[in-house]
Amino acid sequence: MKKYRIIFHIDLNAFYASCEEAEDPKLKNHPIGIAKNSDRGILTTANYEARKYGVTSAMNVYEAKKRCPHIKIVPPNFTLYEEKSRLFFEYLETITEKLEPASIDEGYLDVTEDLQGLHPLELAEKIQAHLLKEYQLPASIGIAPNPFLAKMASDMKKPLGITVLRKRDVKEKLWPLPIENMHGIGKKTVPDLKLIGIHTIKDLANYENHHTLSRFLGNQTNAFFDKAWGNDSRLVDPTRAETIHSIGNSKTYEGFLHDYESAVKALDQLTQTVIKRLHKHERASKTITVQVRFNDFTQHSKNFSLEYHTSDFDIIFELVEDLFDQLFEEKPIHLLGVSAGNLAKEETLFKQLNIFEAKESMPKEEQLDKILESINANYPKNLLKKGFKK
Ligand SMILES: [Mg+2]
Repeated sequence: MKKYRIIFHIDLNAFYASCEEAEDPKLKNHPIGIAKNSDRGILTTANYEARKYGVTSAMNVYEAKKRCPHIKIVPPNFTLYEEKSRLFFEYLETITEKLEPASIDEGYLDVTEDLQGLHPLELAEKIQAHLLKEYQLPASIGIAPNPFLAKMASDMKKPLGITVLRKRDVKEKLWPLPIENMHGIGKKTVPDLKLIGIHTIKDLANYENHHTLSRFLGNQTNAFFDKAWGNDSRLVDPTRAETIHSIGNSKTYEGFLHDYESAVKALDQLTQTVIKRLHKHERASKTITVQVRFNDFTQHSKNFSLEYHTSDFDIIFELVEDLFDQLFEEKPIHLLGVSAGNLAKEETLFKQLNIFEAKESMPKEEQLDKILESINANYPKNLLKKGFKK
C-alpha cells in the first residue's frame, strides 16, 4: 500500500440547474432558478448565469426576480435529478469501487490503486470531461490525501475546477478561509466561534483552549482541530454507497404527448426501465411516485406507499396507472416521471413473504390467497385478483 492515499471529492456544479439545462438546452446561457414559482418559493439552486446577478441558492423567488428580472423559474423535477445522479454514480463506479456517495451530487473516491496509469490530475480531467460530454454535468474535483482536504479543495474552484490540496499547502490555502467555509461546521456554531475570536480556519488551528472549544464543537472538537491542521484519518467507505434512496426515470417529450393512451404507453416504458434498475441493484420499493409536467409548465406529482416492498412490474405499473389517473388533465404532456423510493434490499422482500408463512406447510392455493390478501389489504383498490399471474 502506498504511503499516501489519493482521494478525489467530486461535486456537481449547480446540480439541479445543470440537469434542467441538459434536458432543455434552450435554458443554457439563460439565468434560471429552481423553485416553485410563487414569490414565497425558495430557490434550491441558481445556475451560474443567474449568480452573475447576485442570485443565490436559498434566496426567495421575489428577491431573485428583483435582482434578475428575466430569471426563469423552473419547478423542481426530482425524478430527473435522481436519474442524473444515478448515471453520475454508475459512471464513478467504473473508475473505482472505493466510492462513497456523500449526497445526490457529490461523492468521494479513493483512487490510490485505480489510477489507470494516469497522473491523478489527468484522471480528474478525464472524469470531468466525461461527465460534461456524456451527461452535460459540470463538476469540480478536489484531489487530496484525505476526504476532508479533498472536500475543501473541490470547493475552491467552481464551476469546472480541479484543485490539488496537499498537506504542505494547508497553511497557505486552507488557513485563510473563513471558519464558515470549513466543512462540517454548522451555521449555528459559526457565531459562537466568532465570539471566542475564531474567524478563520487558522484561528481554529491555533486556538489553545480546547475546553472552551468543546463547549461549541462537543465530541467533534479534536476531529475539527485535526482537520484544521489538514489531518483526517477517515477512509472512503463504499458500504455507505449502498444506501440508494430511490430509483427513477423521467423523460421529456419535445413534441408533447397529446392523449391519455400515449401517456400510458410512455409510462409503461418508464416503469419497465425503473423495474430493470430495481432488479439490477437488487432492490424492492415501497413508495411509487408519478410526476407529470404539462406544456404550460405546471407540474404535479403523486405518490403512494405500500406496506410491503416489491419489484414486481404488474404491481408497480397498476399503481403508476392509478396515480397517473389522478394527475391526468386534458393538456399536452411535456414530461413524465416514475420513481420507486423507500428501497430495501431484495432479501427483505423474501423475508416479508416468509412472515405470511406461505411455505410448504400450506396448500398452494392457500399460499397464493394469503399473499394476495395481504397485498390487496394495503392497496387503494383490489389490485390483485385470484388467478392473476399464477
Ligand atoms: Mg454540488
